Amino acid sequence: MDHIVVVGAGMAGLSVAESLRDGGFEGRITLVGEEPHLPYSRPPLSKEFLTGKGGQAAQEQGVWLRETAQLDALELDLRLGRRAQRLLPGQRRVELSDGAALTCDGIVIASGARARAPATELAGVHVLRTLDDAKELREAMAGVDRIAVIGAGFIGAEVAASARTLGLEVALIEAASTPMTRAIDPRVGTVLTELHRDNGVDLRLGAGVVGFDSGPGHNRVERLRLSDGSTVTAPLVVAGLGVELNTDWLADSGVRLDPDLGGVQCNAHCETSLPGVFAAGDIASWPHPRYGGRLRLEHWTNASEQAEVAAHNLLAGAGSKREYTPVPYFWSDQYGGKVQLLGQAAPADEVEFVHGSPESRKFVAFLGRAGRLVGVLGLRSTPKVMRYRPLLAAETTWDEALAAAAG
Ligand SMILES: Cc1cc2nc3c(=O)[nH]c(=O)nc-3n(C[C@H](O)[C@H](O)[C@H](O)COP(=O)(O)OP(=O)(O)OC[C@H]3O[C@@H](n4cnc5c(N)ncnc54)[C@H](O)[C@@H]3O)c2cc1C
Repeated sequence: MDHIVVVGAGMAGLSVAESLRDGGFEGRITLVGEEPHLPYSRPPLSKEFLTGKGGQAAQEQGVWLRETAQLDALELDLRLGRRAQRLLPGQRRVELSDGAALTCDGIVIASGARARAPATELAGVHVLRTLDDAKELREAMAGVDRIAVIGAGFIGAEVAASARTLGLEVALIEAASTPMTRAIDPRVGTVLTELHRDNGVDLRLGAGVVGFDSGPGHNRVERLRLSDGSTVTAPLVVAGLGVELNTDWLADSGVRLDPDLGGVQCNAHCETSLPGVFAAGDIASWPHPRYGGRLRLEHWTNASEQAEVAAHNLLAGAGSKREYTPVPYFWSDQYGGKVQLLGQAAPADEVEFVHGSPESRKFVAFLGRAGRLVGVLGLRSTPKVMRYRPLLAAETTWDEALAAAAG
């Protein structure tokens, strides 16, 4: 192999490039990124970056994933500010928006996701996915005393928490019955409801936004109409409505997309339906034997861990490929505490609080399915949660796990 093209210069794309070098690949690596920035970290964007904790300049410095010297050492052919437009079927050839065409021996798809757009063109309605989004939002938040956040998924919940830290009034609107329902079962999620309310958030659950109103004579948002007939007045709205996956450039390429989870459908080796074309990060789904089905995770840790396996397998011979079988991990910082989920959660799981309690807003809960421990969920209990990772990796039985927690 002489030339590998990595599409997407986020956490997954950068990790692929680093892992290729760590794996001894000395050929050309072209890293293509649509955004004009060097690879940066998204998690701070809804947290310290918004609040400016420790100083705005420090926060701006803190988002870069690597220093320039570290990037230089990778000897990348870095093509920033341009997109991969097309992957040609049957050829390892990627066409870029600047007219360049890259012929290569291997490709890694790490083009991630973009924020789902809200159904309005009104000014004052923001999304948060990119560094530029975060800069705009931070500036806009400095000029208001009240915001409305649509969607209490982890981005919406974190924006609400950051806005409260800044002293803004916050209305948080969520169609489901508790926050963060994609990751956290409503039986445990009620504690997050209380957490927002403890911190003075006007949390509207079970109601969707059905209309955006501007004031007379201007096109700036002023009021949201909700499905329960109520309204929320706010000069600034943040829509945390989830993501759209960046698969458009793969149309007609022959790369199979996942009909259920969206994104690119990979096998257990992170390889797509086209040999020599791998995928990693938010965009990639793959079969995970421990959970009996396919997963696609929008988690920071997954982006780097999956990238590492994809890079290894791209270089590996047929007999030395590795299966990707991580213990999924996700965290979210809200109101000075961490919400963490190791493993997987599903609505029918057994739930047992093994340390602390929801009332104390500090706990570790075990999630069980079919007699096994499948997830560990924690609030403000960081070291304790991480201690149980080996139990999840070993598929420990429910009874053994409970005994380990008690011991
Ligand atoms: C505000 C925010 C806070 C978060 N906080 C947490 C957290 O606390 N904990 C956690 O576990 N996870 C968190 N996440 C999720 C985590 O950041 C993502 O899972 C991770 O960024 C995924 O990395 P990725 O490289 O797969 O995709 P991305 O980060 O989406 O990167 C993909 C890159 O590819 C580029 N691209 C897209 N299409 C093309 C194309 N055709 N050609 C070239 N380039 C292209 C995009 O512009 C983008 O820069 C957060 C995400 C956000 C947005």
